[in-house]
Amino acid sequence: MDFKAYVRNVPDFPVPGIQFKDLTTLWKDKEAFHNSIEELVNHYKNKKIDKVVAAESRGFIIGAPLAYALGVGFVPVRKAGKLPAEKISESYALEYGVATLEIHKDAIYPGEQVLLVDDVLATGGTCQAIIRLVEALGGKVVECAFFVVLDALKGEEKLSCPVYTLMRY
Ligand code: IMP
Repeated sequence: MDFKAYVRNVPDFPVPGIQFKDLTTLWKDKEAFHNSIEELVNHYKNKKIDKVVAAESRGFIIGAPLAYALGVGFVPVRKAGKLPAEKISESYALEYGVATLEIHKDAIYPGEQVLLVDDVLATGGTCQAIIRLVEALGGKVVECAFFVVLDALKGEEKLSCPVYTLMRY
């Protein structure tokens, strides 16, 4: 399936000069949504994944159905202050300022094989912060899966694990 045909390019969002890849146009189509999750399921079903980890909020749209179909657990990574129980934090640089992501301390057990998913890999800062959270709990990130990798931003070079993606721009 030509997934790129379902992606909407939004110029100058959220700031002038940025070409935003809008995946809502793919997710709202029943066949494109089903086939895109299925492609990830087929890629990971024999890879001995224990948990799928994804950050709010677009990561949840992919991570939860993928974990369900693989028959594994789902772990949410959230922005600072949202998780109720004991947690650890990682901060990373944004274009302007700093963002903090958190994960529950008991979300992953030492030695578990973790698949990390998100919608778009841009500079890689978000994904690398999630990798640090998972590794701090003793998990091993097997691979990071995306719908879109923006090659020009070289995020892949920043990541300490292999990347799988449905689309590259
Ligand atoms: P990074 O940390 O620079 O790699 O940015 C990745 C994060 O920003 C991901 O969580 C994405 O959801 C979001 N993001 C960056 N660019 C886009 C885009 O063009 N479309 C949708 N999300 C984006």
